[in-house]
Amino acid sequence: MPEIPFSTLAPTTAEVRAEVEAGWRRILDGGSYVGGVEVDRFEHSFAGFCDRRHAVGVANGTDALHLILRGLGIGPGDEVLVPANTFIATAEAVLLAGARPRFVDVDPRTLLMSAQAAADAVTPATAAVIAVHLYGHVADLGGLREVAHRFGLAFVEDAAQAHGASRDGTAAGAAGVAAAFSFYPGKNLGAFGDGGAVVTDDAALADRVRSLANHGRSEVDRYIHERVGMNSRLDALQAVVLSAKLRHLPAWTAARRTVVDAYREQLRDAPLRLVEPEPGVVSAWHLLVARTSSRDHVRRELAASGIETGIHYPLPCPAQPAFRQWSDGSFPVATAAAAEVLSLPLHPHMTSGDVATVCAGLRAALASEDAGARA
Ligand SMILES: *Cc1c(COP(=O)(O)O)cnc(C)c1O
Repeated sequence: MPEIPFSTLAPTTAEVRAEVEAGWRRILDGGSYVGGVEVDRFEHSFAGFCDRRHAVGVANGTDALHLILRGLGIGPGDEVLVPANTFIATAEAVLLAGARPRFVDVDPRTLLMSAQAAADAVTPATAAVIAVHLYGHVADLGGLREVAHRFGLAFVEDAAQAHGASRDGTAAGAAGVAAAFSFYPGKNLGAFGDGGAVVTDDAALADRVRSLANHGRSEVDRYIHERVGMNSRLDALQAVVLSAKLRHLPAWTAARRTVVDAYREQLRDAPLRLVEPEPGVVSAWHLLVARTSSRDHVRRELAASGIETGIHYPLPCPAQPAFRQWSDGSFPVATAAAAEVLSLPLHPHMTSGDVATVCAGLRAALASEDAGARA
């Protein structure tokens, strides 16, 4: 175990443990494991949390994206704009739906897809654009919505890293026709296993997603299958965890912000940049990403001092072996960023002492790199 872990789930688990145990006991007594009242309850509160009318619990965030695209009728022959800098699942979901991803390079400052870059990438086959609120920072909702409107595209949000974030008062997940969330354990709102959700204001889309996620079942007759669907349902055991954690999430997000403020303060004149959200964004701070040209050296030195870091992501999506065949063009911004980004330890229960330890380690590592470069 490193002295300072990149993240840890133990303290948040401790805060919800009693409530989860009580809820799980109810489920073991009741015997309803897939769907049911616990899932209904969570869907209702999560829709409210996202400022949306409907939430559909599904098996994971990748399925949430895939099901949104299928629910919108996007498939073979369609192209979907995807930022080159994202977790692979964004592009994977497009291919699972039968469409093809068209990768778009990201903005050099935010490392998110800009409205201008999206507009420039539109072709006659483009059917949708997926904005990814990477790191918990919210992409340009107004600009992207305008581009989607101008070209007749569906505007979909990948909010898997942005539970509770907002931009100019609009919640992450409340701007597009629908948004996908992941509840993978390491996400800001994480289950004790996999989970995901689709949120939308469109009741017909919510119904289609719910049906597709449940073997294409008819809403009125469970023995009639109206479409070819899949099995992507949320477990009641996970819904209990998610309901319990959702109540703590605002406090946990505020705690992440406090940690980030401490980092900012202590790294004010350090020779590295932090990837910051744009004005008007209230980030969920899923990740705090620093950029330095000596990333690999710094990461090694920190690891040697017991400080664990992450890289999100070491390769742009279109450079991944499985996705190269859909990569046309070059992605200089995403490629340069991939060599420089370093995700610093961040979780709601990090102390200011932990932050000071990481910052001292960072300064020492950066100074030793300078010394090495001069020698
Ligand atoms: C985690 C993540 C996903 C996929 O979620 P899973 O629940 O792991 O399937 C999609 N997009 C982004 C940006 C993510 O971080």
